[in-house]
Amino acid sequence: MATAGNLGFPRIGAGRELKWALERHWAGTATAAELEAVGRTLRQRHWTQQRDAGIQHIPVGDFSYYDQVLDTAVMVGAIPARFGWAGGRLPLEAYFAMARGGAPAPGAEPVAALEMTKWFDTNYHYLVPELVAGQAFQLTHNRLLDQYLEARALGVEGRPVLLGPVTFLLLSKVRAGAAQPLELLPTLLPVYAAILGELRAAGAAWIQIDEPCLALDLPVAALEALTRAYQELTAAVPELRLLLATYFGGLGANLGTVCELPVAGLHVDAVRAPGEVPRVLEALQDHAVLSLGLVDGRNVWRTDLPAALATLEAAEAHLGADRVQVAPSCSLLHVPLSLAAETALDPAVRSWLAFAGEKLEEVACLAQATRDRAAVEDRLAAAAAAAAQRRDSTAVHDPQVAARLAAVSPADLSRGRSHAERGPVQAAALGLPQLPTTTIGSFPQTAELRQARVRLRRGELTPEAYDTLVAEAIAAVIQFQETVGLDVLVHGEPERTDMVEFFAAQLQGFALTAGGWVQSYGSRCVRPPIIYGDVSRPRPMTVRWAEYAQSRTRRPVKGMLTGPVTILQWAFVRDDQPRATTAGQIALALRDEVADLERAGIRIIQVDEPALREGLPLRRADQPPYLRWAVDAFRLVTAGVADGTQVHTHMCYSEFNDILGAIREMDADVLAIESSRSQMELLGVFRRDGYPNAVGPGIWDIHSPRVPSTEEMTDLLERACQVLRPEQVWVNPDCGLKTRAWAEVEPALRNMVAAAREVARRRATLPV
Ligand code: GLN
Ligand code: ZN
Repeated sequence: MATAGNLGFPRIGAGRELKWALERHWAGTATAAELEAVGRTLRQRHWTQQRDAGIQHIPVGDFSYYDQVLDTAVMVGAIPARFGWAGGRLPLEAYFAMARGGAPAPGAEPVAALEMTKWFDTNYHYLVPELVAGQAFQLTHNRLLDQYLEARALGVEGRPVLLGPVTFLLLSKVRAGAAQPLELLPTLLPVYAAILGELRAAGAAWIQIDEPCLALDLPVAALEALTRAYQELTAAVPELRLLLATYFGGLGANLGTVCELPVAGLHVDAVRAPGEVPRVLEALQDHAVLSLGLVDGRNVWRTDLPAALATLEAAEAHLGADRVQVAPSCSLLHVPLSLAAETALDPAVRSWLAFAGEKLEEVACLAQATRDRAAVEDRLAAAAAAAAQRRDSTAVHDPQVAARLAAVSPADLSRGRSHAERGPVQAAALGLPQLPTTTIGSFPQTAELRQARVRLRRGELTPEAYDTLVAEAIAAVIQFQETVGLDVLVHGEPERTDMVEFFAAQLQGFALTAGGWVQSYGSRCVRPPIIYGDVSRPRPMTVRWAEYAQSRTRRPVKGMLTGPVTILQWAFVRDDQPRATTAGQIALALRDEVADLERAGIRIIQVDEPALREGLPLRRADQPPYLRWAVDAFRLVTAGVADGTQVHTHMCYSEFNDILGAIREMDADVLAIESSRSQMELLGVFRRDGYPNAVGPGIWDIHSPRVPSTEEMTDLLERACQVLRPEQVWVNPDCGLKTRAWAEVEPALRNMVAAAREVARRRATLPV
């Protein structure tokens, strides 16, 4: 009989208790003890919830006050010197300083946080461990042991979870020296052995070690490191059984090495790589246990239980029932907690979904089905019926959308004339100066507007009264931009809470949740929309406010849209059709929006694609096809406009080196990017590879509250004009301004405009 396991549970709490407790603590209104009490309550609730759902292998140590990679770094003593750690347990202030920057101890000088970046292809961010050449490691404090004992005191025999040493090192950065992180493995392993040894001594029978790096293309050195690591760890603590967990994709070329490792068990992602299961069954060592990730931990869809059961039973037939476990494909950190709060969802759509709580019931049900199928026959049938109903639903399938996408031709993806030919037409239409100035779209949202939205939702404010407030905000932002002297204006996005949710709320095929929160980083949570059906646009979405904004000024106002890839990336997507198809459908809806904006007299249209780079698949072989359809989706949105209509795009958090070809093919007239922090170094790639269209390198780091001076921005702009052709350069901040205060926005934009004028003046007086 298969047993039921879990790899990790959302830690934020049904009421986002952890978020609120953290923020109270950071604001100084909750003590460390109060925060820790909330942590304990959540852990206890989540453990008992999992036990009550019928999970036999309950993860412990997956709880974190900020991030599990940070916790691992702290546990092994990878604490950079600036955090003032002098041995022993790291104080909570220093821990939060590593996570968020600030003073590591009362009265100490503030220091910079660790870098943060996306966790594989998820929207979760981890903190990048910062190591030095010759880094020493030591066990600071075994937090895993604490949580293991805490669970046991509550009567829960948990399975500790630890990030594996090879993934830990591969995700780290080595400062001060050219050493490769993997060279540090020999010094790291004894600390891992010590952690495992203490757990074993306390009575732990199994430990789950996560090595998600196995979903990547790995160099030989990494595979050798893996072999060495697991040989040493199993030799050091022979009685502790190791379950090596991999997820976010198949093992690919790593499969052979992994199946040879001397571990007691292996967990594989059978949702992302179902085809690999038979090969794993063949290659697995005698006696090793296989945990099959059959329930999607990355997405919100209900499992087709009979189909999953067939895979599970095939594994049992091959290995023997006592060697098989069933589990979610990965930690449930990436899905919302429970459907219980979703009373407002369309009942049909709701019946197709499973969040973390429901997924654990599915896992338990599958395990039970291998013992006593009759007892769960009803649930299997209900799951199959929901799957069938979803497959045939008219809410999912819109033949018109499918027909329209099928009819897209290469001509629909091409603007016809090149940027060089379009440029003069646009210049004549727009009459912009050299080094034109603009912003990325959003302006600070006032508390008044946010409150108005709450009151609108509660029915305390009429839609008309709300619209009046939005109109006032737009008029004020237009006036402000004219006063500051910007050339291309925006409406400021006061009507949008979130750049994806705003469109999701208006498009057919999307559902919004009431409480579908997922941790993005630290206390920050997002509520991704769910794309369940073919996408179409019942009516224009942005035209009204763009038109209104344009009516308030003679200067051009940019229409502002979120691109198809970004909408896709920041939503839960359909698993019943390729992502490329969904992207194409969103693109068609946006193409109509672009056409309507153009018809309304909007001469510049910006389509933001900040998530294009992060959508890059983990495996190299999958990257070119992704870039092909991602670029095509952008072109489908934008290529229908006249030569004189100027298309802008914006990307942030980006590395452009590996995607420049794709960016060039997007063929936007103007590309506004984040670049101020790199001191324009980032622009090198544009020169090297000769980017022909216009570029707006950000010259104001909007992630910082600091107002940059005119001189500073003049300097950055001069650098940009040296790397790029000056006629190619636009002037803008790094990103939208919604997170900034008016008190910063006003002087910073004045300085930015002054910098543009200064550089233009110098260039005009330059001898030719
Ligand atoms: N137009 C959006 C804004 O200004 C872009 C945000 C983003 O790139 N993340 O807010
Ligand atoms: Zn941005």
